Amino acid sequence: MNKVPDFIPVSELLTPKSVAVIGASEDLTKFGGRLFKLLVQHGYAGEIYPINRKRNSLLGIKTFPSIDQTPTPPDMAVMAVPRDAVKEAVLACAKAGTKAAIIITAKFSDAGEEGAALEAEIVNIARSHGMRLIGPNCLGIISPANSLTLCASPALFVNKLPKGRIGMVSQSGALMATIFDRAQTRGVGFSHCFSIGNQADMQLHDFMDFLVDDPDTDVICTYIEGVKNADGFLDSARRARASGKPVLAVKAGRTAFGAAAAFSHTASLAGSYEAFAAACRETGILLLEDTDAMILQATCMSRFALPKCPDIAVLTTSGGGGAITADRLSDLGVPMAAFSAKTVKSLGALFDGPAASANPIDMGASSVGGSVAVAEDAIKALLRDDGVGFVLAPITTAPDVRLICESIVNGAESVAAAKGQKPWLIVVQPGQAGDTARAMLRERGITYSDSLDEAIRVVEGYRDYARLKPLNAPERPAGLKACDASGLSGALGEDAAKVVLAEYGVPVNRGAVTQTPEEARKIANGFDAPFVVKVVSPDIVHKSDVGGVVLNLETADDVANAVTEMAAKLGRDLPKAKIDGYLVQEMRSAPLEMFVGANNDAQFGPMVMVGAGGVLIELLKDVAIARAPVSVDHARSMIEGLAVAPLLRGWRGSGPLDVDALAETVSRVSWMVADLGPRFQELDANPVLVGRKGDGCVAVDARLLMINFDDEGIAQ
Ligand code: ADP
Ligand code: MG
Repeated sequence: MNKVPDFIPVSELLTPKSVAVIGASEDLTKFGGRLFKLLVQHGYAGEIYPINRKRNSLLGIKTFPSIDQTPTPPDMAVMAVPRDAVKEAVLACAKAGTKAAIIITAKFSDAGEEGAALEAEIVNIARSHGMRLIGPNCLGIISPANSLTLCASPALFVNKLPKGRIGMVSQSGALMATIFDRAQTRGVGFSHCFSIGNQADMQLHDFMDFLVDDPDTDVICTYIEGVKNADGFLDSARRARASGKPVLAVKAGRTAFGAAAAFSHTASLAGSYEAFAAACRETGILLLEDTDAMILQATCMSRFALPKCPDIAVLTTSGGGGAITADRLSDLGVPMAAFSAKTVKSLGALFDGPAASANPIDMGASSVGGSVAVAEDAIKALLRDDGVGFVLAPITTAPDVRLICESIVNGAESVAAAKGQKPWLIVVQPGQAGDTARAMLRERGITYSDSLDEAIRVVEGYRDYARLKPLNAPERPAGLKACDASGLSGALGEDAAKVVLAEYGVPVNRGAVTQTPEEARKIANGFDAPFVVKVVSPDIVHKSDVGGVVLNLETADDVANAVTEMAAKLGRDLPKAKIDGYLVQEMRSAPLEMFVGANNDAQFGPMVMVGAGGVLIELLKDVAIARAPVSVDHARSMIEGLAVAPLLRGWRGSGPLDVDALAETVSRVSWMVADLGPRFQELDANPVLVGRKGDGCVAVDARLLMINFDDEGIAQ
């Protein structure tokens, strides 16, 4: 690719002085027709140049036969033309001096090698002319903040574009439009929405970066299939967090099927979902499972201040509804607020005795009238209580749902908050009895949900967001030198892998490789009993599965015999396996086996892992993962989040184990794999035996896989 010259910034891309619509028509069944109509309809203030050879005007606007005949070079061009015409159109725009082009057309890198080559070609054309590209295979841009739509979605056929303070970047155009539409039906709008498609030129982080700095945006939503530039992404995420703007993400490809679908959709190499999740944790992005949850979360975050404490007050019309809500909240570990004396006093005017301090509050149990009568004063008291972080109001079906909701809204709106209102959310349970209430809430621009489940997920989102602590890059341990990886290649067995681990200060047990029983005896004589004998073979990955590990050997004679017997057995069972020798080593004992490992993620680079060791790792999938390198403190927090953590802390009087030593090992391994560079593929230290507190830990098995690249950079 050519060097990127100075390009138009995203902010200017959203305020073009002129827009050319290539393929414009009046046919609303076509992309170009809808896009053009919507651009006109939503009041874009600049010049519109419809490019159409057959007509003199469209919707009363003068057309131009080609892009080079417009009165001024258009700042922006949108093309919805057949794939085979895209290259020519890009070239024409680039030559005409267009600053940016949106390519809606698909079947480029999302459709195999030939498409990818064409995509690279058009990027080259654009870049060499200083023109930016959005897409291809995207649905364009919606910028309510600028009354600009460069998008053909039917979701935009509305009288007025709903404005809001949520920015969105979506790899899928259809999902962007769906989210936009769904949000719109609940009265929620956006500042700017970008669909980025194949990200051939402009990428996710270009738009995230813009939204971080954008004064019209308070919360950033992203739908991601694959990250092309991990550093750019991580950097914008960190900047967002530092500027106090929450970034929410939904990532496709959590499963193998999802990953395959994401690849064929926008040619995104999914990388592993776990690695992406680790990157989110590291930078403070809130990762959610679906886009509906994301939109409600973003709405709450854009309309309210972040909760100052995790405690929740539940205000409901039904004892049953309150009980179910309380159950769900306690599943999440979210505390029910204990009200202040002042709040209890205020509620005492509405409820008798203990009901005045009960949480959930069942408004139906009021002593002064029904829910309508008490809702306004009750929510006021709750919103003023500093011990309440969030008010959740599930309203069950009743004849007066609308009046109840109105009371709540009146109360909430009358509570002035100096630094922004704390979040509160009404849930109007599904059913027609709530229809008028929902309509009223939409009209008044109030955030609500019609599903308790969705509302609970918002509470969960706030909980998780508060727990996210963005991490600084760790400091390299003093005196730790980077190893020379040039001599390491292919699959390194236990002995060779342990040499590298030891260089990084990871404790390993003593061992030596031999070919003969006699020499094995000699080695054992120099070591401390008991001993272990293991086969050394590039063809045997799981040694113990084939009888390639013998433990508990007491004497040097036992060691010699074990070598003889193992050689005979493997000769019979695996005659084709190449046997490089036998590893004689010291046996260690410890209360717990853990696994420390690493791999190299396609998008986020070296990742370090720690989890339950031995066979448990496959059974329990109890693994914490983070981008390498990690500090010892970070490693400790990874370990503390594992399901086996209670065993490490000391389970049922068995005393605590050496978590510090394990954390140190995880950190050391992380530096090692970070230093090994792009040829690094995989490391397994399984098991790492963890002793009692103060006794340390030791890796008693290891494997390291390094690949080589040929002259053209292809992995061998
Ligand atoms: P593999 O994983 O290839 O089957 P290992 O070297 O991990 O072989 O050995 C299998 C198991 O034997 C380990 O999970 C551990 O329980 C035990 N083991 C192996 N080496 C030692 C040793 N030096 N000290 C104590 N236990 C060991
Ligand atoms: Mg092992």
